[in-house]
Amino acid sequence: MSEVANCPKCEMDNTYFDGVINVCPDCNHEWAEGEEQTGANDVARDSNGAELADGDAVTVIKDLKVKGSSMVIKRGTKVRSIRLTENPEEVDCKIDGSSIVLKTCFLKK
Ligand SMILES: [Zn+2]
Repeated sequence: MSEVANCPKCEMDNTYFDGVINVCPDCNHEWAEGEEQTGANDVARDSNGAELADGDAVTVIKDLKVKGSSMVIKRGTKVRSIRLTENPEEVDCKIDGSSIVLKTCFLKK
């Protein structure tokens, strides 16, 4: 069996093929072979597929290491007032005064 591509949603590589569909255990995204990147439509969506907008408050659903620092954003952290970026998979926010980019698949409205 060929290797499953990285998750099209969160880009993690713990993905596997369960016999029917590709599965990402990190964000619970499932997609069919060759279907990557479809349906994104440049709309930022949270882990449940809910649309995100500037100023929305979200909750982090997974412990996240912040690149380039020792900071960890704990699961359950509430983030007030996100800002959409040009990338529908990422939003800007401020946590403890630091500007941080979060993957939308780790957020829940
Ligand atoms: Zn994923």
